[in-house]
Amino acid sequence: MSQKKAISLEFFPPRDIAAQEKLVRSAKQLLALHPSYVSVTFGAGGSTRSGTAETVRLLQNLGCDAAPHLSCIGSTRAVLADILDTYRQQGIRRIVALRGDLPSGMGGDQGELHYASDLVAFIRQHSGDWFHIEVAGYPEMHPQASSAEADLEHFGNKVKAGANSAITQYFFNADAYFDFVGRVRAKGIDIPIVPGIMPITNYAQLARFSNMCGAEIPRWLRLRLVDYGDDKASIRAFGVDVITKLSQDLLDNGAPGLHFYTLNNAEATMAVGQQLRLD
Ligand code: FAD
Repeated sequence: MSQKKAISLEFFPPRDIAAQEKLVRSAKQLLALHPSYVSVTFGAGGSTRSGTAETVRLLQNLGCDAAPHLSCIGSTRAVLADILDTYRQQGIRRIVALRGDLPSGMGGDQGELHYASDLVAFIRQHSGDWFHIEVAGYPEMHPQASSAEADLEHFGNKVKAGANSAITQYFFNADAYFDFVGRVRAKGIDIPIVPGIMPITNYAQLARFSNMCGAEIPRWLRLRLVDYGDDKASIRAFGVDVITKLSQDLLDNGAPGLHFYTLNNAEATMAVGQQLRLD
């Protein structure tokens, strides 16, 4: 029996034509999972504003409901307003609103809005209820937060400012998600919180990402992955197994859907989706 939960897929803007062709191939394949929307990152890894807009258009042309990410760090109200107006004209109805990160080593100009809650408030002020606004949640705490309680408070501020739903940072420990959702609910906040799911395909890359974003790779998982060394096929097969079990546990225990960080690759997300009978 297929499972009917809201699936969303995240992509990033491709850097060249070959990468763009790969993205289109991946997206076409992943449409078999019936995503309710696909999202496109902004500014991450050096990508540009136009890269996000072009990728959104590319995915809209494939028939996807596409949601650009938008980050406010280093930007101005005027620039953000212009981006919002362009997206509105393009028929976009959903935005993933983030603070973003300045590239490391660059002190730089923080811009006019300092936190994602400021951006959410600005979107509501500028565009009213036109956009459905997604924000980020951190079951294992955002790495810069002064405490778990402060981070929860700041998450609540994004909802008070007008966010409709949330996508979490990825994690490998389902209890962290359930604990986070429980603490959010205890504050009287009832927006959907969709777990972000990172497929496992490459240990070095995963370790690098996890270091940056504060997602813990549990000891047992790390040691198993290290043991596989360069055996990519075994890492993939093991990864699909681990991520399928995690996803099933989340869905069985109340997660409203799954948001896959596809990294523009279809294979691992597709394999997990098929195991979960999402296709
Ligand atoms: P915020 O919610 O603003 O929180 C950032 C930090 O500030 C937290 O530690 C919070 O506790 C703290 N804080 C918030 N308000 C206050 C306050 N008033 N006073 C003091 N501290 C405060 N990055 C990109 O560059 N591009 C992307 O496309 C992108 N997509 C993402 C998608 C998802 C689903 C997720 C989970 C993350 C994504 N990121 C992306 C990464 C994100 O930009 C970083 O994690 C960033 O460091 C924080 O963004 P935020 O929106 O969570 O910020």
